[in-house]
Amino acid sequence: MALPPRGRGAIRREADEVKSSLLSAAAFIALTSAAHSSTVTAFCPCVRCTGQWSGGPTASGIMPRAGITVAAPRSIPFGTRVRIGDLGVFVVQDRLAKRYDNRFDVFMESHATARAFGKRSLKVTVLP
Ligand SMILES: [Zn+2]
Repeated sequence: MALPPRGRGAIRREADEVKSSLLSAAAFIALTSAAHSSTVTAFCPCVRCTGQWSGGPTASGIMPRAGITVAAPRSIPFGTRVRIGDLGVFVVQDRLAKRYDNRFDVFMESHATARAFGKRSLKVTVLP
């Protein structure tokens, strides 16, 4: 399975980010009130997963860490904690390419692990 190209890092996106957060505040509140089934995929630092951003920091400027970092829709602010299925609690630190903005992408250490994870539909709860 080809993993999606990454959308991260561009300073230009920060303005976008703020605007998007404001516009989707209502959606964010709705999301925090209930667990939703969302598409969850996984990525690693390799070129296939992250393209030109391979080995670099996440869109939030923080270096990604397995077990912590998740890329989430732009409606969910950086630093938000989300519980994903039985995988545990992650921190929103990254973004996906715009066309994948409706999914969650969990950071993993190796491409093999990310590939093996595949694409799942899991309950995602945004924590207060
Ligand atoms: Zn990879």
